[in-house]
Formats: sequence, structure tokens, C-alpha cells
Amino acid sequence: MPTPILQPGEIEAGAPPAPWLKLPAASPFAARAQRLEALAADHALADYLRFVAALCRAQHEAYALLPAAVPPSAATLERCRIHAMPPLDAANLARDAAWHPALKHILSAVSAQAAAPARAAIERLGALDAPALAAVAGGLLRHDGENLDRAAAPFVAAALQVYGHRLAAALDVRDVGRPETLALCPVCGSPPVAGSVHVGAEHGLRYLHCALCGSEWNVVRIKCSSCENTKGIAYYGIEHGSAAVKAETCDACRSYLKILYLEKDPAADPLADDLASIALDLLLDEQGYQRSGLNYFLIPGPS
Ligand SMILES: [Zn+2]
Ligand SMILES: [Zn+2]
Repeated sequence: MPTPILQPGEIEAGAPPAPWLKLPAASPFAARAQRLEALAADHALADYLRFVAALCRAQHEAYALLPAAVPPSAATLERCRIHAMPPLDAANLARDAAWHPALKHILSAVSAQAAAPARAAIERLGALDAPALAAVAGGLLRHDGENLDRAAAPFVAAALQVYGHRLAAALDVRDVGRPETLALCPVCGSPPVAGSVHVGAEHGLRYLHCALCGSEWNVVRIKCSSCENTKGIAYYGIEHGSAAVKAETCDACRSYLKILYLEKDPAADPLADDLASIALDLLLDEQGYQRSGLNYFLIPGPS
């Protein structure tokens, strides 16, 4: 990991500044599977949480199977950095066949335990050629809800996440320009799944967690990450639910993003705890708020 550049004043104080961006250093998928298994106990969505846990275990294996990702060229990185544009382009990622081996592994790893509709989706995906897979991935990454095969989406998303993490891990933080607005991932342009308030070296700082590549970027607290409003920000939780999970609502744009307090539960995981706290989404939907976070394993609409 590169060392953050010290600013004048911080050298004297002896405290290195917290990084504005953290790239995914290793596979988060095994720990996520474990977290989902733990959350599944006594949960109304236990079967689904265990199914996603199995997907995450397959993602962990696929992460190890993929060769090291090839980052964009030095010229592309330089151009993106100067213009503070995400160096990883989701459209390119969808067309890149390098994620196909991850999909193949994930499909074979989970097919035995998949329910009938998911097994049919696995068979559909297994029969697609490279251009058809690129079209499916492109639709998913563009959030094209109309033409989405919802039963197939979790498998494709799982494979794209594995490759997205591999690509982001191949970058250097210094390759990434800091954009003025921080609503989307500075590395790949995807929405966050949720934010978390860190402990340890970044104690008390909020980082948003990318839904696709797993990069984390710092956004100050008590501020809507979607529209940057700082007035009337409120926090909702679920009675008798985890004290570590809240939803931060914004009355200016009527959106919300979940926030995890790692001090209250160090094992909390943005994707897993977002899925397990769906009761909070139902509550906020009733209040007229829209999710600004994206969870590829929680795509609304008929399946
Ligand atoms: Zn990203
Ligand atoms: Zn807002």
C-alpha cells in the first residue's frame, strides 16, 4: 500500500493523514460469507442470506483462480487522473472477457445448492457466448432494469465483483484523481453499497464502499453523499435490530444510504449487513425515501 503524503503541520503532529481512498488489498469474500452465515441465524431471510454466502465463498475461490488483472495503460491512467475521472470504466469491464472464468467457476460451485429458478438461470448463463455475456453484464452495470434477467443477475454481478476487485487491487492510489463530488466510486464510477464509520487508524471517519470494485472513499459524516446537502440529515434504525446499522436520510433529495458503525460491531460488512437489514429499507420506503446505495444481490422488482 502506498504511504499517504504528509501535509505541513501533520508531520509535526506526528499523525499521518487518513487516506481519502482505500483500494481493496485482498479478497473480502470469505469474511463476507462468514458474516452472512452469522446473520442468517434466526433471520426471516435465512435461506437467501445462506445462498449469498455460498456465492461469496465461490467468489473467494474465483478471486484466487483469476490471474493478476492488467490495469489500464499509463496514458489512460494519466488522462483519468488529470480529469479526476474513474480509471476503470464499467462499459469496458463488461466487454472484457477476463471475468468469464470467474463466472464459470461461480456457476459450477453454486449450482448444486441453487433452487429451481436459480438453476434455470445458471443453465441460461452457461449457454451464452462471449458477446451475449458482454450484453448481460453491460445491462447490469448500466442498471438497465427493463431488460434485466433478475434470476441471472446475482451470478453475473458476483463474477464482475471478483474481476472489479482484482482490477482495483492492481491500481495505485496515486493513479486515482480525487473528484469534486463523491457520490460515486472514484475508481470505477459505481454507486456505493453503504458507508461505514471506521475504527483504528481512521477512527470516526466515514468511508463509502463501492458496490462493484470494493474501493472505499472518505466522505465526511452528516452529509448526504448523493446531493451533498448537510441540513436536516436524520438517522433511522430498527427497533430490536442491530445498533451498528442505521440509515442516513436526506430531506433535500429524499434519499438514504445505510451507515455501519464498526465500533458497535467490528464484523459488520457493508454488503452483508445491508442485505440483512432489509427491514430498514421497507421502513424508509414507507416514509417515501429512495435508496441511493446499490446492492447487486438486492435488485428490486419481480424475479
Ligand atoms: Zn468502484
Ligand atoms: Zn440528498
